Amino acid sequence: MEGKLLVISGLSAAGKGTIAKELVNRYDDFVLSISATTREKRGNEIEGKDYFFISKDKFEEMIKNNEFLEYAKYVNNYYGTPKKYVKDMIEKGKNVILEIEMQGALQVKKIYDKAILVFFLPKDAKTQRERLISRKRETIEQIEERIKQAIVDAEYAIHYDYVLVNEEIEDSIEDLQLIVENKYDKSKNATSLNILKKIVRDIKEEYNV
Ligand code: 5GP
Repeated sequence: MEGKLLVISGLSAAGKGTIAKELVNRYDDFVLSISATTREKRGNEIEGKDYFFISKDKFEEMIKNNEFLEYAKYVNNYYGTPKKYVKDMIEKGKNVILEIEMQGALQVKKIYDKAILVFFLPKDAKTQRERLISRKRETIEQIEERIKQAIVDAEYAIHYDYVLVNEEIEDSIEDLQLIVENKYDKSKNATSLNILKKIVRDIKEEYNV
């Protein structure tokens, strides 16, 4: 049987990366697609595990050669999903997770209608800010840019099949399993969308935009 394609996006620091990695560590039938990017490698990242870090020229060559399932520019860098791995794994019966931003997610849905799109949120704006600061990955300017990006990112949530608030990782993993088995109660999306509205309001207030 074919595997499923699970596309995970969400607000910056919603914890989606941790959830995806945990799902793959625990269950053999889930694999994570590794993206290519032109952004700089962060201190603790590993080439070929977190990303394939490539130059802009190489990325543009891969676009020309039609090697991407989807790609997008996000905060001034290219990010893309190499096609071959995803195709091979789905054929093998594995559930493939793509942890990608929204423009890419919608491209995937357009070309592969069976893809399941999940949008993750932190529980509130304060939690998002605290997580961004405590993970010490970015400068304060980059953090502010990511927080403000959430206002734009939030507009996409409505196009997703599921919107989940990541409060407890165990609950989120359970929710994802239910989603893959088509057993998740979609009516819960409404509550999550209200939480998202509140997050956006709080960010707008903070930055006067
Ligand atoms: P980061 O720089 O924090 O690793 O990732 C920035 C954003 O790019 C995140 O929202 C991440 O999900 C997204 N991203 C990572 N890989 C891909 C990809 O292959 N395609 C697209 N469209 N977005 C990606």
